[in-house]
Amino acid sequence: MSPMAVSDRRTHSIACIPADGIGPEVISAGVEVLKTVAAADGTFDLTFEDYDWSSETYKQTGKYIPDGGLDQLRKHDAILFGAVGAPAICQPFQQYANVRPTKILRGTQSPLRNATSGDLDWVIIRENSEGEYAGQGGRSHKGMPWEVATEVSIFTRHAVERLIRFAFEIAQSRPRKHITVVTKSNAQRNGMVMWDEVASEVAKDFSDVTVEKMLVDAMTCRMVLQPKSLDTIVATNLHADILSDLAAALAGSIGIAPTSNLDPTRKNPSMFEPIHGSAFDITGKGVANPVATFWTAAEMLKWLGEHNAAETLLECTEKVCESGLVTRDLGGTANTKEVTQAVCEQIKKAYATTAKASN
Ligand code: ATP
Repeated sequence: MSPMAVSDRRTHSIACIPADGIGPEVISAGVEVLKTVAAADGTFDLTFEDYDWSSETYKQTGKYIPDGGLDQLRKHDAILFGAVGAPAICQPFQQYANVRPTKILRGTQSPLRNATSGDLDWVIIRENSEGEYAGQGGRSHKGMPWEVATEVSIFTRHAVERLIRFAFEIAQSRPRKHITVVTKSNAQRNGMVMWDEVASEVAKDFSDVTVEKMLVDAMTCRMVLQPKSLDTIVATNLHADILSDLAAALAGSIGIAPTSNLDPTRKNPSMFEPIHGSAFDITGKGVANPVATFWTAAEMLKWLGEHNAAETLLECTEKVCESGLVTRDLGGTANTKEVTQAVCEQIKKAYATTAKASN
């Protein structure tokens, strides 16, 4: 294969916001593997720009994102975020679909007895713009024994339909073509019933996708007892928030899994981050597990259309886990740097092997 001329190469511009705690450590590891995969692949370039927006910035300026910050982010094709949620970015950028893939990576241990790699491979799609976290409500008679507080869930047909449609598209793109629509429509008789109705309407456009409906409480049992029976899962903001934490725990460690905040219309850059938080207890020690960020980076590459590089990156990460070179949270002794270097080496090896095979 002859190397592509520089002008033919696709370029993706990435905004990096390492933010708090272990964020900077895992994001710099992520950037290192991304640079390695782009160089080895040779068909695309990545450019990175760092934004120093963190809780420290907040303390100094009273804002997480400076004035004009969103316009700066808009110039980029994607955002790679470190730690601590960034709702200040999700809402203005209409990142209405939160996507969380979960699987048991080879070389990692699920707390589920007998469950190994291949027994749990899900994508949870969470409504990310309204629902139970819409912020509607209020408190009257604060502090009085007769105080009243309301927390109103908002479900609009528009938002529910676009999210469910997107979830069906994901289900359709996966080999099993299977989706579970999670609600609580036996008890929440309005918004959730509308979810069920919208799901039935959308399903008509996806005749090749098998659909089933589950109540959220029954779903928790199903995830633990029959993990293999699930594939794509769609649920509301609150329900999917809870289910995805359960999913992360069942997959073995919080240091593994990614989450993507997507604007499926692609009008705004989407944002990719590991699901773990700032982990201040291990910050600065160089022992943070970078695997969640590597998987996050792979999801970002997939969104940018670099499917081959995305698959290679995830496969190489999994190979390194399988070799036993893992951080403490996965029962190993390796540090962040060692895992990062091993994944970079594995990537170079994978591309060298492919190049040899095609010569
Ligand atoms: P936040 O308030 O930012 O969500 P948190 O400490 O409540 O932070 P996490 O940061 O997710 O939540 O951490 C939960 C536990 O998991 C901590 O003990 C932390 O050290 C561990 N942990 C989280 N991420 C990683 C990682 N990448 N590698 C190793 N351990 C991790």
